[in-house]
Parts: sequence; C-alpha cells; structure tokens
Amino acid sequence: MEYELVMGLETHVELNTQTKIFCRCPVRFGQPPNTDCCPVCIGMPGTLPVLNREAVHFAALAGLALHCEVHLKSQMSRKHYFYPDLAKAYQITQQQVPICGPGWLELSNGKVIRIQRIHMEEDAGKLIHNGSDVLVDYNRAGVPLIEIVTHPDFRSAREAADYLEQLQGIMRYLGISDGKMQEGSLRCDVNISVRPKGQRTLGERTEIKNMNSLSYLVKAVEYEFRRQVELLERGEEVCRETRRYDQKTGTTQLMRKKEAETDYLYFEEPDIPPVALSPQELEAWNRELPELPMQKRKRYQQEGLSPQEASSLIKYPKVADYFEEACRWVQKPSLAAKWMLTHLFAAFQNEEEKESGAFPLSPRQFGEFLQGIEAGSIRRNYAKEVLAHLIATGDPLEQSLAKIQKEDMGEKELETLCQTCLQLYPEAAADYLRGKKQAIKALLGAAMKRSKGRANPQQAQQMLEKLIHQKEKA
Ligand code: ZN
Ligand code: MN
Repeated sequence: MEYELVMGLETHVELNTQTKIFCRCPVRFGQPPNTDCCPVCIGMPGTLPVLNREAVHFAALAGLALHCEVHLKSQMSRKHYFYPDLAKAYQITQQQVPICGPGWLELSNGKVIRIQRIHMEEDAGKLIHNGSDVLVDYNRAGVPLIEIVTHPDFRSAREAADYLEQLQGIMRYLGISDGKMQEGSLRCDVNISVRPKGQRTLGERTEIKNMNSLSYLVKAVEYEFRRQVELLERGEEVCRETRRYDQKTGTTQLMRKKEAETDYLYFEEPDIPPVALSPQELEAWNRELPELPMQKRKRYQQEGLSPQEASSLIKYPKVADYFEEACRWVQKPSLAAKWMLTHLFAAFQNEEEKESGAFPLSPRQFGEFLQGIEAGSIRRNYAKEVLAHLIATGDPLEQSLAKIQKEDMGEKELETLCQTCLQLYPEAAADYLRGKKQAIKALLGAAMKRSKGRANPQQAQQMLEKLIHQKEKA
C-alpha cells in the first residue's frame, strides 16, 4: 500500500525586543548564565508581570505579514506544568483568544499553507546537562516568543523546510527576529501522521519536539514517516506521543506519552489585563510593513533574474538593499546580479558576513563599475581585473581603469599577431575553411592569450577571418 505523509508545524520565534516580555531585563544572546534576570523573570513570589508593548507590536506585525486576522482584543492565560526551566511552574501564554487568527503563507512552489493562529508567550530558561548534574540558566526565561501554528497542510519534509525558510525571511525583513535556528531563536515542533493514499481522515499523530536545524528536521521527518508506516504495515497502531530526534542514531525516540490538554489547567492570567489594540494603531502598523521576500522574489524575476539569483539575493535584507542600491546605476538588473553573486559574494568568509552586508565596495562604487561595463568604457576582457583592483585598493574607478586597462592593439600589430597564430595552428584554420566555424575559437583564444588582453576580441576575430579567407584565395 502507498502511504501519504501529513504534517503540521508549531514554530516558536524569539522576538528581538529591547527587553523581556514581562520585565525590563534585556533580551540578548550569549551572556554569562543567570545575569540577565530579575525577580519577575525568575518567578519570585509577589512579583507582578507588566506586558511589553513592543512584543505586542512585533506579534501583530508577524500576523499582518502572514495575512492573519489580528484581534483587537486578546487574552493572556496560564499554562501549568512543572519543569525546572520554568520557575513559576506555569507559562504565561495565550490560549482561548490569541493575538492573531487564521492566515496563510505561500511556499516557493506557490502552494499555500494555512496558518491557524499566532499567540504570544514567554520563553522558558535553558537546562544544561553536565555529567550527572543539571544546571539551569534563566537568561532566556521571559524572552518574548510568538508561536505560529499551521494546519496539517504539509505533505513532505521538503515543504516544511521551505516554509521555515520563508518564515525566517519574513521575520528578518520585519526586523522582529534574527530567525537563527542554530541559536534557538527559531525552533519548531512537528506534528506528523501517515495515512493510506486517498484516505481522507487523518491518522494518529506523534509530535517531534524542538527541531533547531533544517537538515535534522528533514531527516527526523523521513525517519518518523518510515517508522509509522512500518507500524501500520505490521498491523500495529501509532500512539499519540511526544518524541525527540537523536542526531547520533538518526532516529526519533519516545519522550513521553502525550498529556491531554486539560492537564495544563489553563486559566486566564489574573495579573495582566486583556491585550487591546485600537483600529488606528493596527492601521498604522499595517502601513509599516516592508516589501516582503516573496514579493521581492517575484519582482526580481519580472526584472529578468533567474529564480536562483532571486533566491540568493533576497535571503538577507541587507544584501537585497545593496543590490537595489547598486541597480540605480544600471539598465539591466541581471548584470548587477551576476557580478554580485559570482564576484562580490566570493569576498565573504561565512554566512554572518553576508548577513551583515559587509560588502567590499559601497553600492555606489559597485554601481559605477557596472555602469562602466554597460557603457563599454570598461572592456569585458578587463572587467574582472578592474573589479579586483577596486576591491583591493579602493582607488576611484577612473584611476583603476588607467592602471589596468591598456590601449587596444593597433591594426598593424593585431595583424602580425594573428598571422603568427595562423602559422602556429594551421589545422584550426583548415578546419574553419571546411565549415567547422567553432575552430575560430581556438585561434582567437591563442591570439587573446598572446596579446595579454590588449587585443579587442571582436577585432581579433574579424582579423583572423579576413586572413584565413585571404590565404584561401592566394
Ligand atoms: Zn527579568
Ligand atoms: Mn508554545
């Protein structure tokens, strides 16, 4: 029997607000353990949470970008469970009325993934396992999160990975999260079930917790799909349970049988009034939305870029900004894309440098260089060298050109050079006369090489053709 994979995602995104969601501790990554903490975020008795308005703003922006209905009134709730990373023994989250209702996200293949809801909540601390000891770091406790919940619309691991990449891009463009999976600012739980192809009802699902890498996510989903199919094939049942992915064995392992929702004993958070937005406020936030990656991708492709070029350029906002800035000097955006991707990107040592947009030339210097190519003042055979010189020295374009670009060869000198090449490779000339027009390329290559870049390729080719035909007549 053939089986189909059915999957939904719950994605937690850490918001990069100045301060935590219920206190004034700073939100930042990589500080010494338990230094960004206060009585509120370590859950001391008698403290009162005060909701951070910036977190509400960011959550609403995410909702607007994902075409969600944003609720003018929502409510915080307590979700009870005991675990040492959660000092209060309950998490403040949103249950009955989240800040955002239904919305959707379009994958790069055009498929639409329906979003059920987005709610705000606080992050928990971090447990560090050290031999037989367990240490806890509360720096992360109280960092604002949004949780984005989809419908079970995914049919492959590839679609899930694509969704997360789109989401990452959207968060970065909104400037509300860095979306770094490896640092845990974007992590997801995967709900996964299988069913015989053609069946409409859903199979029993399992949940894989806390995936923080796209490649592990793909492996975990593929493993879990096979595991569930094998259970069904043997006539056994899939149990509702929570599992985790083990990187060493490449398998998923049972963590716990799923608690029922009621075990959390949700109730309305009595210390925080309902979250209210005015229509005017929401309207203003809606106007604040930047051009988002998917719109940018479509526009770039309309302007003549390939899908791959567009994808590479939209990945980070600063890279896209640089590209658009440089394009102000050229007619054809594809020219800027090609030079950026093949030559400027080579200057980056790693992904962080690229993300920070630390290009070796200003957009203006790069734009003027491209303009020179388009106008013909920088000749193609010198362009790479000119760019390298600009990058290495920071000299103005004029000066770089004067240093690098030599005068084209005169007619006489070019003729002598071409004669030499014909003597060196008589068989290529003969091939050309027999109708193998490609043979001219070998001769041209030799001429260009011997001229050390001083021959103009068009003129050299014309000269070679002229000389071959003269010889034939003679
Ligand atoms: Zn605090
Ligand atoms: Mn959650």
